[in-house]
Amino acid sequence: MNAHSKIPDIALDLNPAPVPEADRNRLMESLGFGKVFTDHMVTIRWTRDGGWQDAKVTARKPLSIDPAAAVLHYAQEIFEGMKAYRNDDGRVLLFRPEENARRFNESARRMAMPEVPEELFIKAVEELVRVDRAWIPSGDASLYLRPFMFATEAFLGVRPSDEYVFCIIASPVGAYFKGGAKAVSVWVETHYTRAANGGTGAAKCGGNYAGSLVAQAEAYKHSCDQVVFLDASEHRWIEELGGMNVFFVMKDGSMVTPPLKGTILPGITRKSILTLARERGITVDERPYSFEEWQSDAKSGRLVEAFACGTAAVLAGIGTVRHADGEFLIGDGQTGALTTSLREELVNIQKGMSNDSHGWSHPVGA
Ligand SMILES: *Cc1c(COP(=O)(O)O)cnc(C)c1O
Repeated sequence: MNAHSKIPDIALDLNPAPVPEADRNRLMESLGFGKVFTDHMVTIRWTRDGGWQDAKVTARKPLSIDPAAAVLHYAQEIFEGMKAYRNDDGRVLLFRPEENARRFNESARRMAMPEVPEELFIKAVEELVRVDRAWIPSGDASLYLRPFMFATEAFLGVRPSDEYVFCIIASPVGAYFKGGAKAVSVWVETHYTRAANGGTGAAKCGGNYAGSLVAQAEAYKHSCDQVVFLDASEHRWIEELGGMNVFFVMKDGSMVTPPLKGTILPGITRKSILTLARERGITVDERPYSFEEWQSDAKSGRLVEAFACGTAAVLAGIGTVRHADGEFLIGDGQTGALTTSLREELVNIQKGMSNDSHGWSHPVGA
């Protein structure tokens, strides 16, 4: 085995001053999304000569990097988002973590970064979840895990960095949208786009988000929760939201979702919904769906529901669609019945409340 394929042990250097239990309980009472953080983090370094090394769980603390670190100039950075759930009998479950590990490495390849061996990725996530177990909420809340990797080499030339840090932080989270299960409103962005053919749209990289923020700001300006991006070449085909995939439910019971062609992030929630829906006998077409079609289908009643999906929000019904020339409702503007029922089915699997016939739940032992 060479240095690059060896899985390092993860040293435990525990926080000597964790948040006291009473303060933690108070923090966990009113969770938003990504505002409260746990006591620990994982860091693992990579160098071209030495591979993965110096893996440890430590107190969560600021990172020290050189001002010339490549990530600060050329945005060589990728991330993942996943959740740990505590179920009613106290078991701790991750949902399809091997899918996150695999996608992380797809993102890494696209951004000319080293791959994290899947075994190391999952071991590091499990270690953090074990150490910060007290921070996993029960009920509808969960512990959001954010693995990420960035280029640390101090060098202003333009080429892939020779040094990286892989890090994982964790945040107990409640509902992603303030309105809870209420349907969200979306802004259809007809000027700015998110990803072009041959670009980085299928990689989970910070840069995609940086480029989407001005459109997200437009959405807020129009009192919408999220942006819907259209394709970059024709500004006609619906792609996805800033950080979520999208599905459409037709009156005849079938569903439509845009196909993965390199400009859309291949969501694990999307993939899971495709499986669950098809198992119910629902026809799901992965096909291009245009904004024109969306408008006319909503108007004619051919379209009855639409929802956004991703780890953070799970499934969120889309009620109102706003755009430069007006707005329209989907159905009666509320979260639809199929959206609600698919959401429940998925959440029950994630929380270990139903039979996991797909092997999607990954228990984390004590
Ligand atoms: C993470 C992400 C999603 C959703 O992926 P999940 O694996 O379902 O969480 C969708 N779109 C974008 C742009 C994303 O970054």
